[in-house]
Amino acid sequence: MTATILIVEDEADLRELVRYNLEAEGFRVSMAESGDEAVERIRDGVPDLILLDWMLPGLSGIELCRRWRSREETARTPIIMITARGEEEERVRGLATGADDYVVKPFSMPELVARIQALLRRSSPQLVTNVLKAGDLELDRQSHRVRRSGRDLHLGPTEYRLLEYLMRHPGRVYSREQLLDGVWGNDVYVDERTVDVHVGRLRKAINRGREADPIRTVRGAGYAFDERFAAMS
Ligand code: CA
Repeated sequence: MTATILIVEDEADLRELVRYNLEAEGFRVSMAESGDEAVERIRDGVPDLILLDWMLPGLSGIELCRRWRSREETARTPIIMITARGEEEERVRGLATGADDYVVKPFSMPELVARIQALLRRSSPQLVTNVLKAGDLELDRQSHRVRRSGRDLHLGPTEYRLLEYLMRHPGRVYSREQLLDGVWGNDVYVDERTVDVHVGRLRKAINRGREADPIRTVRGAGYAFDERFAAMS
């Protein structure tokens, strides 16, 4: 099962960027560029979570939030509001109106995804998988524990995030740039070679002796979690 997320945002670029990143995470995405369109979308079907921009043409975010909270079918749908810097008062009003969380523009995609997952874990635990398994590797997103053939692996925080990112889509090849955006966040400046360094550390932490290496280097392209490894059990 996949969670459906409704993005209500009038800035086309931001809407597309968020859609792209959420789809890459495996979410289903629907979009609305105004309050009225959002009302239409909800009529078509209630999403599992709503990302709601506060400053919208027509019906405002706060108006929508109030409306959805007062209706039975959307009363418990998690809402994350998207606010601009400096809108302290708006955030307080938003939370008082029933929004569950907020992000401040410009926000990083890993942060947004983490917030979405945290809310979904509470509202629809069946939609969020906590344990990723591939071959003899097991990664628990809740406890942040990684095990291979039953033994605990000790990964640094960056290596953990890197492995988690790659394990989500076995076989998908990520360029170093995509890994930097997805794992480090796009507001951080890190050299692309940093990715190679951390992949090296990750391999060292997860592979012992003659064990198969689940991380595949794709010459001229980047890295992938090996789908053949994922298929082994
Ligand atoms: Ca806006």
